[in-house]
Amino acid sequence: MNRFENLRKQMIDHQMVARGLRDQSVINAISAVQREEFISKDLVEFAYTDSPLPIAANQTISQPYIVALMTAALELKPDERVLEVGTGSGYAAAVLSKIAKEVYTIERHKILANTARRRLEELGYKNIQVLIGDGTLGWPEYAPFDAIVVTAGGPNVPEALKQQMAIGGRLVIPVGSALHAQKLIRIRRVGKNEYKEEDLGSVRFVPLIGAAGWEDERAIKPAGKKTEENLQELVYKSSEHFASINHINLNNLLKRIGDCRLVLLGEASHGTAEFYEMRARITQELIEKKDFSIVAVEADWPDATYINHYIHGTAPDPLLESKPFSRFPTWMWANHSVHEFIRWLKKHNSVRPQSTKVNFYGLDLYSLYSSMEMVLSYLEKVDPETAEVARLRYGCLMPWANNPEIYGQLTVTKQYRECEKDVLVTLRDLLKKRLEYSFADGEKFFNATQNARLVANAERYYRTMYYAENNSWNQRDQHMFETLQAVLEHKDQEAKVIIWEHNSHIGDARATQMSARGELNIGQLVRQKYGDNAYLIGFGTDHGTVAAASEWGGPMEVKQIRPSNIDSYEHIFHEVRTDNFLLPLRKPLLEITRNKLSAERLERAIGVIYQPETELQSHYFYASLSHQFDEYIWFDETRAVEPLARGVTKDVPDTYPFGL
Ligand code: SAM
Repeated sequence: MNRFENLRKQMIDHQMVARGLRDQSVINAISAVQREEFISKDLVEFAYTDSPLPIAANQTISQPYIVALMTAALELKPDERVLEVGTGSGYAAAVLSKIAKEVYTIERHKILANTARRRLEELGYKNIQVLIGDGTLGWPEYAPFDAIVVTAGGPNVPEALKQQMAIGGRLVIPVGSALHAQKLIRIRRVGKNEYKEEDLGSVRFVPLIGAAGWEDERAIKPAGKKTEENLQELVYKSSEHFASINHINLNNLLKRIGDCRLVLLGEASHGTAEFYEMRARITQELIEKKDFSIVAVEADWPDATYINHYIHGTAPDPLLESKPFSRFPTWMWANHSVHEFIRWLKKHNSVRPQSTKVNFYGLDLYSLYSSMEMVLSYLEKVDPETAEVARLRYGCLMPWANNPEIYGQLTVTKQYRECEKDVLVTLRDLLKKRLEYSFADGEKFFNATQNARLVANAERYYRTMYYAENNSWNQRDQHMFETLQAVLEHKDQEAKVIIWEHNSHIGDARATQMSARGELNIGQLVRQKYGDNAYLIGFGTDHGTVAAASEWGGPMEVKQIRPSNIDSYEHIFHEVRTDNFLLPLRKPLLEITRNKLSAERLERAIGVIYQPETELQSHYFYASLSHQFDEYIWFDETRAVEPLARGVTKDVPDTYPFGL
C-alpha cells in the first residue's frame, strides 16, 4: 500500500466510518479516488486531512467528510444521472462518477472548470461532463436528473434546479442567509408539483453566486435586489471612534457590559502590543469601576501562579526571573505590555484588603512537566509517603516529559502503555484528602489539585492528539473551561472574571468554520453556561508589525502583517473612514450593520507562528462576526510587542500545541 492509499484508508476509518457513515457504495467510491490529484502540489501532504483546502480562484475543495455525507444523501443508484453545481477541483464529481452512470458538473470560474476537465480526462474519468456557467440555472439540455448536488451555499433553493429533477429525484443543497444559518437540505420530488424537504444539519460553504444565488462573493445580497448603503459606511456610523488607547473613554463600553459577570477579551495575534494594551485598559476599568476580581489568561497554570504571588506581594517579579514563562513562545507573556499591566495589578492590590485583591490564573494545559513537579513538591511537604507513591505513578509519563507528543504517538501505535490510570488516581488521592490537606493551607491545596487536574487533562490531550485533531483542540478548551469553573468554585461562584485569550478561543466557535470540524471553544462553553452574563470582545487589525516565529520553537521575529485579504472582514474595516474603533454588536447602534456583519466572510488569525507567504491557507477562516462576538475592537495599524530580555531555558520541556 503506498503512502496515500494508507492515508486514504485512515481518512475513511477516522473521518467517515467513525462519524457513522455506513453506505458501502460511498465508501468504495471514496476509496477509489486519489484526492491528492485534485489539489495543488504544495498542499498534497494535507490531501487527507479533515478539512477543506484552498484551490484556485479563492475557492475550496470540500472537506472529505462533507463530500461523503452529501454523496450518501443523494442515494445514488448505478444507472442514474447526476448534476453537480460547483465543480471546483472536480474531486466530488470524480466520487459521484464512481457510483452513478453519468455526471454533469457546472462551474462558474473558467480556470477551475478548465483545470478540472483536463485533470479528469488525464485520470481517465469518462462519464463526467464539465460546463462553464451559472449552475443556479441548471443544465436544461440534459435534464431531468435523478439527483442534483450543489456544493456552494445560496440564499434559496433555485427554482430551475427543482424543475430539472426527475420525479423521485433528490436535490441536496446548502441554504441559508448567513454562515450561521446555513443548513444542508434534501428535497425529494414526489410528484409533478410536490416536494418533500428534510434538514440534514448545519454546514458551511463558499457562496453560490449567480442569477438564483448571491449577487457576489460577499454573500450579502441575493441577486436582483437594489443596491443599499455600503457596509463600510454602515460600520462607520455604528462604531465609536478613538484616537489612542491612553485617551479612549470607555464609559459606553462599560455601560454595554452592564451587569455581565464574565468579560472575554480576544486578540487576533499573540504578538500585537495594541491588543495587550487595550485589554489592560479595559481590565483596569472593570476592576476599578465594576469590582472584577479575577483575571484568567491563556497561560499555563504554574507560570500564572508566579504572577499571582507577585501581585499579592509574596514573590519577586516573575517576568524578570528566568524560570516562569520560559517555554516557547516566551514573548507571549514576557513582554513590556504585560509587564506594565502586572505592575499595575500589584500596585492596585497593595492598598486593598485581602478579600478584594485581584487574583491572576492561567487556564492552559501545556505545563505537563512543571505541573507534575508542583504536585510532587506539594505532597513532599504535606505527606511524604503519598509523595513517594505519586512519584512512582508520574514516573509513567516522566520519560516523555520533554516531548509529550511522543508519548501520544507511542500510545496510539500501542508501543507504550497508557498512563491515564496513574494520573487519574493521583488526582483522586489528592481530592480524597481535601479536608486533611486544605485544613493546613487551602490555597496551596487548591494550587496542587489544579496542577494534578492539568496533568490528567494534558495526558489525555497528548494521547488523543494523533487520533483526531479536533479532539485534542476540544480537550484543551474544555480544560480551560473546567479550570475557570474550578477557580470560581474555589474563590466565589459570584466573582466577576476577565479572560484574555486569542479570538479563536473566546469568539463563539459555533459562528465559525471550526464548528463544521466539530470544534468548540471556551467562548462557546461560557456562552452556553452563562448566556447574556458573558460579554465576548474580539480584536482585529489590517497591517503593521507582529511578533511571531516562522515555525514551532523558532526564534521570535518582527514580521510585517500583510494587508488584509479582499474577502475578509478586516478588509471592510480597513476601508472604514477612521482608523480605530469599538463596534458594538450585541447592542448595535444600527441593527442593519449587525445583520450585514453576520454574512460569512474570511477572518484572520495569527498565532505564535505567522507565515505571510501562505497566509490565505494558514491564517484565514470563515466566520460570522456578529454571531461570534458581542463587540469588536479595531486597530487599523498595529505594532509588535516588545519582548523582555530573557531566553528560553533549555531544561524546561517544550510542548507542541496548536499555534493559537
Ligand atoms: N465540489 C468541489 C470539489 O470537490 O472540489 C468543491 C466545490 S467549492 C466548495 C464550490 C464551488 O462552487 C466553487 O468552485 C465555486 O466557484 C462554485 N460556484 C459558486 N457558484 C456557482 C454557480 N452559480 N455555478 C457554478 N459554480 C458555482
